[in-house]
Amino acid sequence: MRLLIVEDEKRLALSLAKGLTAEGYAVDVVHDGLEGLHRATETPYDLIVLDIMLPGMNGYRVCATLRAAGHDVPILMLTAKDGEYDEAEGLDTGADDYLTKPFSYVVLVARVRALLRRRGQAKGTSPVHVLGDLTIDTGARRVVRGDGAEGGEEIALTAKEFAVLEQLLLRRGEVVSKAEILEHVWDFAYEGDPNIVEVYVSALRRKLGARLIRTVRGAGYRLEVPR
Ligand code: CA
Repeated sequence: MRLLIVEDEKRLALSLAKGLTAEGYAVDVVHDGLEGLHRATETPYDLIVLDIMLPGMNGYRVCATLRAAGHDVPILMLTAKDGEYDEAEGLDTGADDYLTKPFSYVVLVARVRALLRRRGQAKGTSPVHVLGDLTIDTGARRVVRGDGAEGGEEIALTAKEFAVLEQLLLRRGEVVSKAEILEHVWDFAYEGDPNIVEVYVSALRRKLGARLIRTVRGAGYRLEVPR
């Protein structure tokens, strides 16, 4: 999952980015409203954290402009003032949720998760996926092998491995290109080799079984749906 943070308080923005990266999200940060609007238009983000008072263009306008252009990306607004007026206006312009500063980091992460989950449900995808003897819970970010009811054996994945698996899972049975995986799992600061995806796919095969992820030559990867 790839997130965009649009926040001009640089220390806050960077600490949010650091925390969310540790949770396994790919995170881009910009400090200006216009730049945020530009990024959000160019990149298929899974969620945007949007401050209201911003240089360039304020958060209300960024949100309203995105909605007017038909973007349905979940938007979590950050409001500086503790006032009903702000909240009403934020939700009016098409934001999905708001958080009043100062907020605790734990609450922010919970809201981000809830919004992503809500969007998954709207698309008809449950957070729990069963693939053969594997149970993958994208909400709790856990993979268990064996009968879930009996406990089973948890398989430890790194945050990035889980993020790659999640992208394949969201489109199980379809071919997902390396570029698409990169776009959702790595942030724009990543300028390395796109073949990094192969390294993660190899690790997933080693941990989850060689036949789960099929390489489709020249096209990408496909998560097999066991029958
Ligand atoms: Ca601000």
